[in-house]
Formats: sequence, structure tokens, C-alpha cells
Amino acid sequence: MEISNYIVIVSISGVLSAILGLFAYYMKTDFAGTKAFIISSWASAIYTFGFALELSGSTLAEISFWIKAEYLGMPFIAPSSLIMVLHFVGLERLVTRKNIIRLYTIPVLTTLISWTNDYHHWFYHSIYLRPDAPSPVVDIIMGPFYIVHGSFTFGCLLAAIMLILWQWNRFKRVYRRQMVTIIIGLALPALSSFLYLMGLTPYGMDLVPLIMSLTSTLYIWAILSRGMLTAAPIARENLFESMRDGVLVMDRSDMLVDYNRAAAEMMQGLDSSAIGKPLAQLFLSAGKEAVSYVMNADPQHSEERELAWLKDNETYYYQVRSSPVVKPGGHSAGRMIMLIDITERTLLQEKLRQLATYDSLTGIYNRTHFMEVSREVLASAVAGASPLSIILIDIDFFKSINDRHGHKYGDSALQHIVNVCSRHLRENDLFGRYGGEEFVMCLPDTTLEEAGRLSDFIRRDIEQSSIQTLHGPVTITASFGVAESGGPEISLEDLLSEADHALYTSKRNGRNTVHLSRGSSITHFSSI
Ligand code: GH3
Ligand code: MG
Ligand code: MG
Repeated sequence: MEISNYIVIVSISGVLSAILGLFAYYMKTDFAGTKAFIISSWASAIYTFGFALELSGSTLAEISFWIKAEYLGMPFIAPSSLIMVLHFVGLERLVTRKNIIRLYTIPVLTTLISWTNDYHHWFYHSIYLRPDAPSPVVDIIMGPFYIVHGSFTFGCLLAAIMLILWQWNRFKRVYRRQMVTIIIGLALPALSSFLYLMGLTPYGMDLVPLIMSLTSTLYIWAILSRGMLTAAPIARENLFESMRDGVLVMDRSDMLVDYNRAAAEMMQGLDSSAIGKPLAQLFLSAGKEAVSYVMNADPQHSEERELAWLKDNETYYYQVRSSPVVKPGGHSAGRMIMLIDITERTLLQEKLRQLATYDSLTGIYNRTHFMEVSREVLASAVAGASPLSIILIDIDFFKSINDRHGHKYGDSALQHIVNVCSRHLRENDLFGRYGGEEFVMCLPDTTLEEAGRLSDFIRRDIEQSSIQTLHGPVTITASFGVAESGGPEISLEDLLSEADHALYTSKRNGRNTVHLSRGSSITHFSSI
């Protein structure tokens, strides 16, 4: 090949490198490795232009000068490429200021030593024009630092290639083309400079600048069509995988495209074989409600719902959010389903609700909740002009049960009384713990007489059933006070106070009895 043609091609290569550098410089990207890529491209441009001028030089002095110019760029290409690859494979934590300084030390020394070679000959032992070449080409005899520089350059390129190969399996398929591009961009120049050093190139010519026109073109193509330099794939992958929330990515026909580890932990049967399967099938194990939700969610809009499903025989609660995925042009690319584990929160809320509603010892309503619900029931009884009765129950001589048998037996006596009472209650009757050993009932659709009869029934049931203690069976009795809502102006508090008066009367009249409050008068209930 004519040397002038060769010069033209090398110059084009320089132009391409420069364009690549400018291109990357003006590109809008979040990818942190872009800076290193720009440095590498401009270093390549300096090197190749220097090389073109070296080729056009006719004297040893001219050629030596342009070689020096090349060394302003060339030593920096390999370490910059390595830094770019570190970002690319998600090892950006290694790109510290300290490490950058370390990595550029040898290139800086290379430049300085090659420029001052005349004084010490550490870089080239000697440099001379080849006698056999058709046009002036220099040959050199390496000095010690030339070997340092060469090894370092190969070391960087090799390390970069190894890093990509090492992480190969962790890259999603979409990134593999970018990776192949980068590997070619690193390996081709490395290979040709190896051949050059081995003296296997024609006339001992350096083919790297020529090869670079190829690799630069490849890079430009990858940037334009493959989105190279727009993201650090592994960093993105790490982020996706380390999320605590599960993510499922679906294509436009609702087939699974991608999912993360958290999602796999949340959903049974979600593994790599699930890729390409329809969404409904994936949610089958989560139950009908989940399937119908994800199927009916509008793929064009974000929406969310709390769902529960079984996994390993335990119920888990998830906030399931479906949101559209839109391509840069505004077209739909499918949707994303996000799963947020709210099991802990839901169970805690459930526990709080339980605590706020029920008495922990007996499991019936606590006073606050009983009052709340009874107020509503009373209001609707008044509105419907239907009868409603209240029964207050207080255990007789309960203190002595505690004193004689111990607090533990006192507690089980309370549970026993609740069991006995519950046997007599209907579904709509309300039953609560009013105080220590006092209980309250709110009975809709029940007249005073009916409530009196029920009270006496329960009273006798309590009297006849005994509890077991260390000292043998013990019989417990209770006293009752009953009141009925007589008209629209009566409040729950009034009713309770009436029932309390009747209860007090039962206590004064020997206990283990039932008294009814009839407005101003209190009468003893007799079943006869
Ligand atoms: P009487 O009602 O027949 O007049 O006598 P009494 O002994 O039941 O009297 P009082 O209502 O004053 O006593 C209530 C006792 O109930 C006091 C307290 O020690 C006991 N008590 C209250 N709450 C609990 C509880 O949750 N567990 C146990 N073991 N005892 C309780
Ligand atoms: Mg009592
Ligand atoms: Mg009491």
C-alpha cells in the first residue's frame, strides 16, 4: 500500500477518535464512565494524528518529534479504558481519586521519560531509520521503561477484558452487544500492538492507529444504536436486585420480561422459567383475588391495591401497584408491577385493632368498644321504636375468691362467667367487660321482662356451674340489674345508671338475684 494512502486512513482514524470524544462530551448521560471514555477517545485522537504526521515525516528528527507528540496521548488510552470498564461493570467504588492517581502515574512517567529520552535513553536505547523500508520508518531498540510502559498498557487492557468476561452472566441480554463492542474495542488494538512488538507487522509498522478507525466506528455505532454510555448495566442491575420491593416487568401483551430477587421471594414459582409467561399465570398461586386484580388493572394508568396471599401456608400482605412503562417516544412498552410487603404493618394494625376492641383476659368487648357499638345499636332501636335492654352483672364476693384461692383462680373465674353468659346470648347481642368483675349486655329487640327472664336464666346457670380450685370445686354467684330503653330521649349513660341502681338493689337484697328498673321504681324479678 502507498504510504500516502496509509497516512490518509490514519488521519481519518484520528478524526473519528476526535468525533467520538466530542460526541461523548456533548452526550446527555448519567453514566459516570463517560468521562474516562472521553479521555480515552481524545488520547486516541492525539496518538493517531501524531502517527499520521510521523508517517509523513522524512527525517529522523521530524519523525522523533511526532513520536513525542504521540506519547502525549497514547499512554493514557489503556488506563482510561480500564476506568470506563470499572464503571460499566458496577465497580465504580474502586474509582477513587487515589486509584485514579495510581493508575495515571505510569502514563505520566512514560510521557516525561519519552520526551527526555535523549538525556538518559531509558525509553529507547536507540532509534534509527529502517534501511529496508520504502519510505522513512523508524525502528527502535527498547529501553527499560519502554517495557514498563508496554506491560502496563497490556495489563490495563487485559484487566478490562477480564472484568467484562467475569461479569458476563450478570449482564442482561440487552447489554451484551455493548459488551461485545467494548471487548472488540479493547482486544483489537491490544492484539495489533502485540503483533507490532513481536515484529510481525509489515516493515515493523504500528497498525494500532489503523485498527482504531475500525473500533471508533464501532463505538459510534454502538452509542447511536445500542445506547452505549447511557447506563452502567451492572450498577443498574445491582440496584434492581437489591430492592426490598418486588418488581415484575411485563411487555405489552402482559408477558413477563424481567423480575427481581425480591419478587421471586414473594411469589411462588417465580423463577427464570417464568420469563415469557402470561401475568395471570404467575399470579395463580397468589389466589383468585390477586389474579382478577392484576388482570383488570388498567395498563395505561397507575393503580394499587392491598392484597393478601398464602406462601408456605402463611398469609402475607402486599401492596400491589401496577403502573405503565412508557418508552421515550410516549408509546407504551408494557407495565411494571410492584409488590411491597406490608405484612408486618398489617399484622401490627390488626393487633392494635384487637387491643382497642377486645378485653385481653376474656376476649369479649372492652368497655370503650362496647359503649361505642351500643350507642349505635341504641340509636337504631330508638329510630325503629323497637325495645332494647341493658343487663349489668357483678360477681358476688369476688374479692374473697381472689383472697382465698389466689388471683390466678380469680382470673379463671372471670373467664368461666364469660363462658356461661355467652351460652345464652344471640348473635346480635353485645357483651362487654364493664369493669374488674362487672359485665354488661346490650340486647336489641328485647323487653325488660325478656331481659329479666334471661338474667335469671344466666344467674341460675352460674350458680349451678362451679369452678375447680386447689381446694376443690367452688360455686360462684352473681347479681343482676336490668333496664329498658323507654323512649327517644334516653341516653346510654341513663340506661346504664338505671341498670346500676337495680344491680345495687340486688346486692343489698342478699345478692344472687335479679332486679329490674322501671323508671322510678325497682322491682325484684320473680320467674313465677
Ligand atoms: P360484691 O361485689 O359482692 O359486693 O363483692 P366483691 O368482692 O365482688 O366487691 P368488689 O366489687 O368491690 O371487688 C372487686 C374485686 O375484683 C376487686 C379486685 O381485686 C377484683 N378484680 C378486679 N379485676 C380483676 C381481675 O381482672 N382479675 C382478678 N383476679 N380479680 C379482679
Ligand atoms: Mg363484685
Ligand atoms: Mg364490683
